[in-house]
Amino acid sequence: MEKWDVVVVGGGPGGSYAAKTAAEAGLKTVFFERGRKSGEKNSSGCGLGQRWWRDFPELMSELQELPSVRKIEMVVINLIDEHDRLRYRCGTTGSDLCANRWPHGMDGISIYRRDLDPFLAGKAVAAGAELRTSTLISDVLMEGGKVTGVKTEKGEPIGAEVVIAADGAMSTMARKAGMRNRWGGGCTLVPQLDFGCNEQKMDDIIGNAEWCWFGPLYGTYQVNFRDGFHIGAGQWLRDDWDEKPLDMMKKVVSIPGFQAMCRAIEAKPREYQAHLLPWLKKPPKTYMAGMMLAGDAAGFPCPLEAEGIWHAVVSGREAANTAAWAISRGDTSEKALAEYERRWRASNLGKEHEFGEEFVNLWNSSIFDPKLMARQIQLLLEFSMLHPFSIVFDWGDAHMDCFNQHLEHLMDLAPEFGEFGKTYIAPLGRGIWPKNVKRILATVKPRVPGLRRLSDENFFKVVARLSKGLAPFLDPAAKQDAPLPREAYGAGGR
Ligand SMILES: Cc1cc2nc3c(=O)[nH]c(=O)nc-3n(C[C@H](O)[C@H](O)[C@H](O)COP(=O)(O)OP(=O)(O)OC[C@H]3O[C@@H](n4cnc5c(N)ncnc54)[C@H](O)[C@@H]3O)c2cc1C
Repeated sequence: MEKWDVVVVGGGPGGSYAAKTAAEAGLKTVFFERGRKSGEKNSSGCGLGQRWWRDFPELMSELQELPSVRKIEMVVINLIDEHDRLRYRCGTTGSDLCANRWPHGMDGISIYRRDLDPFLAGKAVAAGAELRTSTLISDVLMEGGKVTGVKTEKGEPIGAEVVIAADGAMSTMARKAGMRNRWGGGCTLVPQLDFGCNEQKMDDIIGNAEWCWFGPLYGTYQVNFRDGFHIGAGQWLRDDWDEKPLDMMKKVVSIPGFQAMCRAIEAKPREYQAHLLPWLKKPPKTYMAGMMLAGDAAGFPCPLEAEGIWHAVVSGREAANTAAWAISRGDTSEKALAEYERRWRASNLGKEHEFGEEFVNLWNSSIFDPKLMARQIQLLLEFSMLHPFSIVFDWGDAHMDCFNQHLEHLMDLAPEFGEFGKTYIAPLGRGIWPKNVKRILATVKPRVPGLRRLSDENFFKVVARLSKGLAPFLDPAAKQDAPLPREAYGAGGR
């Protein structure tokens, strides 16, 4: 039986980066991809956000040259009401803070997976890993509860000191090794429609932007590539799920505003796909004796907006580094590989999941619930009318009267949405940095006559008593103002 230091299952972003890192660490590494080449079987394309510039600047520089790339300099939000009318369109390009945070500010790129995945696989091969395509891994080899290798569909056994399973949302490896059977909720099905377009017209009309369509539609995003785009919609897979994926797409493509855009850029449907995507409150256990899970196989995609490629690459890297460390100590037991979970939890990847529960609950009760969204659009539209430019162009009455009328209407809506705010928005308050909470309170204190006489220390103690939710932030023992490690947040720090 052939024997490798590291066997990686999956030639997607997670697998390729794991293989690259393991090979660079001097480990004898092979990675297996069931497709004829990497990217062949994966979702059509993806957006890569700003943190790619922070964490993988060399890769990002090279990726700019690939044929399908369109830059992202703006995100355009379209709000649709229950009558399919486009009611609001706005764009965000970030602020000075975003522009200065990293060398490339808010910029990201959109790229087809047919370009991205082979590029990343090529990096692993260049580092010395062996890539075997058109090879389906169908089982794990186990001895005494420890994974000792994998088995190909043809029955060929391949031995390994460590297996890294980066085989996507359906992870055969996780199931065969007994780590889990189904996700048990928290996985979404994403139907997606890809369109070819006139590149020049896309430049003129879409520009360098990602688009989203929100309304009674499920969460719908539009990723724009050089000469095409794809649109996808998400929904949890749950027992009462009765929507057919294609019907979810039909709702989106029948919006008149969407059709107008398609006409303008000469969009023609090319391909329909439906993929699973783990969208979890928190990833389940990610290691066992002899094996670690990376990327979607581990359930890593961001619980807020399901970005998953950065997560796959970062977890692949951590898994390979842990493999190198464990092999060098001659110990690949479960206890040793627990180091992987400790490492990713301590990294930016772990931070990403700290608010998983709150984010997922929020989506469940908004974007992923079209009936609720039909109503919530009213609230969002009312908020949008408090925007300075909206008030300037509300010619219904004297401008200050218009402003007051909108404010009043928003307050009228408050009781209906109060419960939503209390249940889903307020819990996010624990994420506000202590120093910001203190700054807000310090601004309030001198303005309230009765509070002026209190010392700062007593004032914060009183607030902590009154507000249980703020207590952890106000605990002086928590050393909240100690500077956070620079590497935790990139060059800009916090
Ligand atoms: C529709 C959709 C849109 C998305 N958009 C974005 C986006 O814009 N930005 C973003 O960051 N993320 C996005 N994501 C999430 C992102 O695609 C995933 O998180 C990411 O691809 C995970 O990478 P991975 O390497 O873990 O898994 P995958 O990309 O799924 O790769 C797994 C690889 O393993 C191979 N494989 C599977 N089983 C076996 C086996 N048994 N033997 C051999 N090979 C096997 C597969 O063929 C595949 O190449 C999107 C996901 C979906 C579904």
